[in-house]
Amino acid sequence: MRPDELDIPLTFEGTREAGTTLGSGVVMAFDDTVPLPRLLLRIAQFFRDESCGQCVPCRVGTVRQEEALHRIVDRAGADASADITLLREVGRAMRDASICGLGQTAWNAVESAIDRLGAYE
Ligand code: SF4
Repeated sequence: MRPDELDIPLTFEGTREAGTTLGSGVVMAFDDTVPLPRLLLRIAQFFRDESCGQCVPCRVGTVRQEEALHRIVDRAGADASADITLLREVGRAMRDASICGLGQTAWNAVESAIDRLGAYE
């Protein structure tokens, strides 16, 4: 969420209406000195760690997602469009085909950061 959205109600409905999610209800605030790509990589590492491996979309997708985010961080300043395209494809597969909520939401933060915060522009 951006600074201009701070009055959005912290409810599942309120965040959904704004095009984002409440997740598990954790609120973290960052100023503009926080490097968003590194933060997203850390979030992706969390999902990769937490994936139990039962289903392929999540087991493979969380790894592919982390690898792509790593490449973007390692090549800071370079054109990231190919990796962003890959992230969207992997994210869709995880959302549509994962068995449980972990895999289905593993791409939410990255998608939101790309589309709402311009994380890699
Ligand atoms: S989506 Fe759920 S069941 Fe499938 S690998 Fe991830 S954590 Fe396991």
